[in-house]
Amino acid sequence: VHAARKGFVLTFHSQNVTGYEHAALDDHVALDESLNLLAALGMPVLRLVDAVHYLRESPDKLPARYVCLTFDDGTDFDWRLVKGPTGQIHEPFSSILKRHEATGTSFVVASPEAREDIMRPLQPVQMSEDWWHDAQQSGLIDIGVHGWDHVHPSVTAMRSTPDLIERFDRVASREQALLQIDKAVDYIATRAGPGSARVFAYPYGQVSDFLADSYLPAQDRILAAFTTAGVAIEEGMDRWRLPRFVCGWHWRSPDELRKLLLD
Ligand SMILES: [Zn+2]
Repeated sequence: VHAARKGFVLTFHSQNVTGYEHAALDDHVALDESLNLLAALGMPVLRLVDAVHYLRESPDKLPARYVCLTFDDGTDFDWRLVKGPTGQIHEPFSSILKRHEATGTSFVVASPEAREDIMRPLQPVQMSEDWWHDAQQSGLIDIGVHGWDHVHPSVTAMRSTPDLIERFDRVASREQALLQIDKAVDYIATRAGPGSARVFAYPYGQVSDFLADSYLPAQDRILAAFTTAGVAIEEGMDRWRLPRFVCGWHWRSPDELRKLLLD
């Protein structure tokens, strides 16, 4: 009897840096410490699209335990040196990955108007799109899809659909699916280039049953969709509801991460 293979998809937010009100941890420090731990445990880090490919085509080829790294919301801290709110410089996720010879996936918000509305209170952090193409070409960071507008309360256009604000689970129409999936994929793929926009992360981790049960299974541009359910991926799981762990929520120290990975 074989123990079930387990995949741990870890999620970091590069805007979580010291000095921001809601940053309980510095996710740049956490990413570096997590990669040190993974090396010590000898646990391989796979590209998310590769893990998805194996899950679909040949799960037997996956290691017994493996990790994928994902980054949500696509602030510039994912890619380039930026000054934080207290003026200090933070090493971007791309450079941390490079030091550790690892790869990750950034789930970015497509709409430029939404990004501008969302980032206004986060100044000086930006959610630019000018780095997507370089990141995708670098082999360090793949660009994934985090919806059109993150159904974020700061987004002006959300005033026309107030019942959807911070409720991505309520996305339940073809019209909304065309916006949150197709329009977002088109926008991101055009800018980030070949290989981008193949995986989706539900904003706030909120699964839309309409997307997961009906819309996504009937298309072939997005290969898998990710929640924040806080459990490991095992063979046979629903490809449109693959779980992730979130730094600062499901683990808050290297010790807690170790326990989670060895569970
Ligand atoms: Zn998000």
